[in-house]
Amino acid sequence: MSWISEAQKHYEEYVDYYTSLLDTYIDDRILEMAPAYGQLQEMAVRHLEYVAKKYVDEQNPDFIPTRRWAKKIQEEYLTKIIPELNLLNAKLQPFATSVICGTVFYGANTTAYILEQAARCAVTVPNLTKSGVLGVIANPWLPDGATYSKRIRKSVDLVAEQAEKTVKELVTRKMQYSDAAKELSKRIDESYYRGSRIIRTEMTRANALGTSYSLMENADIVEGKYRDATFDSKTSAYCAADADYSKKYPYDLDYDTPMNPGLPGRRIPNHPHCRCRWVAILSGLGIKNRQKAAFDKNDELYYTKAASYDEYAKEVGLPSVKDMVNADNPKKYLRPGETMEDLRKQVERKRFNGQIITVPLGLDIHN
Ligand SMILES: [Zn+2]
Repeated sequence: MSWISEAQKHYEEYVDYYTSLLDTYIDDRILEMAPAYGQLQEMAVRHLEYVAKKYVDEQNPDFIPTRRWAKKIQEEYLTKIIPELNLLNAKLQPFATSVICGTVFYGANTTAYILEQAARCAVTVPNLTKSGVLGVIANPWLPDGATYSKRIRKSVDLVAEQAEKTVKELVTRKMQYSDAAKELSKRIDESYYRGSRIIRTEMTRANALGTSYSLMENADIVEGKYRDATFDSKTSAYCAADADYSKKYPYDLDYDTPMNPGLPGRRIPNHPHCRCRWVAILSGLGIKNRQKAAFDKNDELYYTKAASYDEYAKEVGLPSVKDMVNADNPKKYLRPGETMEDLRKQVERKRFNGQIITVPLGLDIHN
């Protein structure tokens, strides 16, 4: 084996290693959000108890609540809980900005380091400034036009809606206080889960973005990039399909960045909980097969020589990529504002006169 194919192998091993470090980091950071939600839970339930004691418990059993009466209590509850929600949001925004920004740097710096170690040549580290990165992550470049901070805000606003609903059910006596308190706690738990999912997904995006910036900076030694999907049974159909596709037809280095936005079903992250990452193809190497960590049907770790997800699936007895794609709900790969038409777009991005243009593609991942 020549040193050059060894280099590609080392590159991929380094990516595995630094992605596992990032995963641990993500898990640790997400836990830091928990106390803020715990505090909200405590306050929300305490205010609910106050409202229940002051208004609901005092009424005699024959009391029929009027709409006006119920509305007044709902409003009173909201005036108490909205400052708590604003506080939660105020805690989450700077936290999210700093971890997402840090993850872009992480992606860019580890990629530069990996390139240097694997290719054994001097590389250029992208000159990313904090304000530049903040500009990129604050600017919506996704079709829904929402930034991560809008998504967090929305997830917090949903708590207000749910709290209002719960109070209504309590005061109109559709629900007992103890059930209402449980329901409210459960909904805040769900909001924590939703919030952590947003941050996790954005960190996957940030890492992929940082990787792309580093690769673009070192275009002289990098030929293209492909999606590396996890070889286990949880990998989504389109991630598996795009991994196999992009290994055959690698993407441009700037693909899936604000300069050259990715296509639906072919972006990182592709969906919440996406664990994919970009792997560079070092110039003159092509993709050489190497052993890759994978999980068998009993979720036991093993090493496979499978060159594609499809081959791996066959090896462990999972459905083929084609069957996975056919059984999948394609809508989960769309972002707000996108239609099925966008997902079916069979196009390829080519560089022409220094510009990226979109041209029809003969290849169909559904085939
Ligand atoms: Zn994925």
